[in-house]
Amino acid sequence: TTKRAYNFNAGPSALPIEVLQKAQEEMVNYNNSGMSIMEMSHRSKDYEAVHNDAIARLRALYSIPDNYEVLFLQGGGSLQFTMVPMNFLGKEQTASYILTGSWSEKAIKEAKLFGQVQEAASTKENSYRNIPALEEIQFSETDAYVHITSNNTIYGTQWKEFPQTGAVPLIADMSSDILSKPVDVSNFGIIYAGAQKNLGPSGVTVVIIRKDLLEKANTNIPTMLKYSTHADSNSLYNTPPTFGIYMLGEVLKWVEEKGGLEAVEKNNEEKAKLIYDVIDNSNDFYRGHATPESRSLMNITFRVANEELEKQFLAEAKEAGFVGLNGHRSVGGCRASTYNAVPFETCKALAEFMIEFQNKHQ
Ligand code: PMP
Repeated sequence: TTKRAYNFNAGPSALPIEVLQKAQEEMVNYNNSGMSIMEMSHRSKDYEAVHNDAIARLRALYSIPDNYEVLFLQGGGSLQFTMVPMNFLGKEQTASYILTGSWSEKAIKEAKLFGQVQEAASTKENSYRNIPALEEIQFSETDAYVHITSNNTIYGTQWKEFPQTGAVPLIADMSSDILSKPVDVSNFGIIYAGAQKNLGPSGVTVVIIRKDLLEKANTNIPTMLKYSTHADSNSLYNTPPTFGIYMLGEVLKWVEEKGGLEAVEKNNEEKAKLIYDVIDNSNDFYRGHATPESRSLMNITFRVANEELEKQFLAEAKEAGFVGLNGHRSVGGCRASTYNAVPFETCKALAEFMIEFQNKHQ
């Protein structure tokens, strides 16, 4: 059946039903090859077309300039925490990291294995409720790079405007908001993201990297962990996660059909507004974690009036068919992840459920 859950999972998360159905149709016999995409050689014509098509679509959607490479790697956002400093931070060098949540903390931990880390700004003191003001950010012209987490999946905050770092490359972990809105890629040295939120299934990691950085990278590092290895071989140095890349390509087609990144952003704004409005009009029955200016359009984090009611809210929501509303295990509370593929109607159902729950219990 096609009965779909109200899926608010934080990642892996909802995929477009149209994409799942297309994959289902093509599953056992892709393009009359007599096999699924998973069963064919990554050097075959059929697969190569899928691979290059996905790269071309991502380039087109973001208008990625020619001086950037698009790479498909593995190891998730987490391996990028390591690869970035391994490639670009020397022992005597400093990189600036902006600390806006647990994923930035993890990125910093890895960078410290390779060189010096400077906290260019932090919102830890404020329980990661906000994104720092651009004026607060302190970095140096001699930094190897400046690193940010564009969307903080656990705390529910999102950068609305990115820092301008001039000649110092800006590197962004966009794992949880890639493909959710237009972004000027030329503002960044590197953008990376695990696929399992907006891009497709887990297993693929997208890296968009400016070509001049490839030449400046450290050389005494393992082959598989060098960006240039993958750039030099069109991400076919070894066997790529072929099925994930196929799915990514289908998700990119879906975004095109929806009208591209601007249309997707507008839809995301409308979806998030449904739920934030309930929070804001609840007389503090629901309390948003993020400060309004820093609110994420992807992860809506909130608490319910008291602990007892919060437990009850999560239990009744589960009963009513809502999936994935528990906050991250490290912070508790509630979180609704409203990624691209979560339908408007699903968000509307949650907003209505929240109002009903409040009316019943306050
Ligand atoms: N960065 C962010 C912002 C994330 O949300 C996550 C995962 N939720 C990661 C990095 C880690 O990604 P992965 O599990 O793909 O290693």
